[in-house]
Formats: sequence, structure tokens, C-alpha cells
Amino acid sequence: MEFSLSEEQLAFMKSVYNFSKKEIEPLTTEAERKGEFSFEAWKKMADFGLMALPFPEKYGGSDAGVLTTLIGMESLARGGADGGTTLAWGAHTILCGVPIWLMGSDAQREKYLTKMITGEWIGGFGLTEPEAGSDAAGMKTTAVKKGDKYILNGSKMFITNGPVGHHFVVIAVTDKNAGHFGMSAFIVEKDFKGFSVGKELDKLGNRSSSTSELIFEDCEVPEENLLGPLGMGFVGVGKTTLEWERSCLLAAGLGGMEYAMDVSLKYAQERKQFGKPIAHFQAMKHKLADMKVSVEASKLILYRVAWLKEQNKNAMLEASHAKLLMSELGMRLAEEAVQIHGGYGYMKEYPVERGFRDCKLGTIGAGTSEVQRMVISKMLLNLKAKGGKK
Ligand SMILES: Cc1cc2nc3c(=O)[nH]c(=O)nc-3n(C[C@H](O)[C@H](O)[C@H](O)COP(=O)(O)OP(=O)(O)OC[C@H]3O[C@@H](n4cnc5c(N)ncnc54)[C@H](O)[C@@H]3O)c2cc1C
Repeated sequence: MEFSLSEEQLAFMKSVYNFSKKEIEPLTTEAERKGEFSFEAWKKMADFGLMALPFPEKYGGSDAGVLTTLIGMESLARGGADGGTTLAWGAHTILCGVPIWLMGSDAQREKYLTKMITGEWIGGFGLTEPEAGSDAAGMKTTAVKKGDKYILNGSKMFITNGPVGHHFVVIAVTDKNAGHFGMSAFIVEKDFKGFSVGKELDKLGNRSSSTSELIFEDCEVPEENLLGPLGMGFVGVGKTTLEWERSCLLAAGLGGMEYAMDVSLKYAQERKQFGKPIAHFQAMKHKLADMKVSVEASKLILYRVAWLKEQNKNAMLEASHAKLLMSELGMRLAEEAVQIHGGYGYMKEYPVERGFRDCKLGTIGAGTSEVQRMVISKMLLNLKAKGGKK
């Protein structure tokens, strides 16, 4: 078993961290306060090469692999980029870009990936609906073939990058009798007839990302914008994207935990009460020790998902383990970071308050904790029924 990163990966980690601290943190701290997406930070991230990471060189990408992409996200977040910034990156690069790369035609890759990599076009992903969240397969949005177009009707809820996006990978029902194989993926551009974006939604955290509903009213999508085979949208996107999504978005969560730990360690050594730095009190030492253990456990479970994926092994269950553990440890760590900072931790001037709000999305987005427990226990029970062997 090999646990070390290559020299090249360590150097990359350091350079993304330094870039994030110097160039991104000041911009996104301001954007988060205003509740606005920062186009300036977006452009800097694209120029630095962060949108290019997973994609083939042929389209302007870096062919970096899962682990290096993950490290990039971890370092961006550890350097101080907030949750909204990494969420917007994830919706664009992973949720929209990866399905186009892995399921798309060459023409679709050429048209969309090249402009997504330069940051010129922002992408998003529409699965969730107002009445279909955890039960995403219960979606109502339909796509009906008419001549050389598909006509989409329905809506998608809570879509990251909705208000700023140029195009979205959208899943819609094409055959209501075919269950999971009756849903197809489409690339829908913001200027297509019948497409509109709802008002921007105000959120608890991740406030530098923009979120809205997407609305389809007899929306005309050219047939060449069908992504992957007809009927394979739900299954195909799940297969191609889920492990990427879990590893890279969770990496942002890991970086957020490291950031909270870094600032708490510093604060605990600087802040004095009863004539001593608070880091000298056992209760504070224990909190810092628990933070470190949470970070190390999260790192191991997450890097293993990336390792499995790089070996071309299935990591679906392991990705669920990581999602559940990390989002819950992350929430606890964020709370302890505020506690260590005392009253100052409750103030907007200190970054742990933002981390505490950003972090809650971890147990909700992309499959809630309850859904993860459902998936894991289902697998366990099936395995036991087959003789209890793994
Ligand atoms: C900031 C933000 C950004 C998002 N970005 C996107 C995006 O870009 N694209 C996209 O498609 N979606 C996006 N989502 C949607 C997100 O994935 C959903 O919110 C999530 O899947 C939960 O669905 P829901 O909100 O409808 O909750 P519900 O499914 O209604 O769940 C409500 C509660 O019921 C519980 N529950 C539901 N079913 C069960 C069950 N069978 N057993 C036990 N408990 C259950 C849930 O765990 C939860 O606690 C985003 C959400 C947020 C908040």
C-alpha cells in the first residue's frame, strides 16, 4: 500500500495553496459577504488551470487524474477559497464537464469543454426538482421528440451556477415506462427558446455561489444536444460522475476542515485567558487533537476513493462511506472551530463563522446523510443475504 504523494503532486499542492491564499481568499471573502458570485475569482482560477484539471489535453485540459484533481480542490479550499467557490467549480467542472467528457460526442466535447476549460462558459447540472430531491428518479420534467428537436417541459430546483451559467446538463424523462432507463441527459443552453432561470435563491452558506431554479416551457433542444444514448441519462451520469463528484467535492470539504484547523491552531496559541494562551488548557488541546484526527481520517477515506478510481475499480460504496463520514465530521469540526474562537468565532469578521455555515451543505447536497445510510445499509444487507462475504 502506497500512501505518499509524488514530488510533483506535493509541489502542485503548495502552488494551489499559495495561489488560493494570495489571489482567491480576498476576493471570495468579499463575494461571500455580499452573497455574490465573483467573476474575477473565476477568471483567475481558470487562468491558473483549475478548470482544466481532469480533462484530456486534446480539449485544452491537463489530464491530471482523480487524485491530482482532488488535491487541487483540497488545496484551493485550504488556502482560503470558501465553500461557494469550490461548489461553483464542482458544478461546472465535475457535474457538467465530466458527463460531457465521458458521455459526449467529439463535437459536443469540442464545442463545450474547450470553452469551459478557459472559464469563458460556465456550466451547471440539473437533476433535482421542486418535488423530487432524494428520490431524484421521481422527476417530472419530460423531453418529447418533435422533428429534429426535443421539447422539454418542467423545472429543476437548487441549481448551482443557475444565474451565471451558459449551459446545463439536464436530466429529463423520455420514456415514463422504462424506470431508470427512461431518463435522458441533454445539454441545454441559456439562450434556447423556452428556457428561463428563476430568481436567485438566498442561502445560509456557500453564498459566493449562485443558485436558482431552471424552467423549461416547451424548451427547444436540438437533437444533437442529447448527451449519451437515449434513456441512459440517469444511469450514465450516475456511473460516470458520481465517484468524481464525491471525491472532488469532498476534497473541498477536506480542505475546508484543514483551513478551520489551521486558523484554530493559530488562534488557540495567540489568544490569552487567565494569563496563558488558551492552547494550554486541556479542554482546548483535546478539541485540537480531535480536529486533527477528523482531518486524518477524512484524508485516508477520501484518498482511497481516488486510488480505487485510478485503478479503474468500482468506488461507489466507498464514495458513500466517505461522503457520510466526512460531511458529519466536517460539521462537528466547524462547530469546534467556532467554540475555540469563543465570541470572536461568532462574528463575521472571523472565517470560522463562514465555514460553519458553508459546511452544513455537506450533509444535504448530492445525497443526504440519511440517503447515504440507506445506500450503505442496503449494500450491507444484500451482501449478507449472499453469504456475508465482501
Ligand atoms: C446549495 C445547494 C446547491 C445544490 N446544487 C444542486 C445542483 O447543482 N444540481 C442539482 O441537481 N441539485 C442541487 N442541489 C439539490 C440537492 O442535491 C438536494 O437538496 C438533495 O439531494 C436533497 O433533496 P431535497 O432538498 O429535495 O430534500 P428531500 O429529499 O425532500 O429530503 C428532506 C429530508 O427527508 C429525508 N429523506 C428523504 N427520503 C428519505 C428516505 N427514503 N429515508 C430517510 N430519510 C429520507 C432527507 O434525508 C432529508 O433529511 C443543491 C442543493 C443545495 C441546498
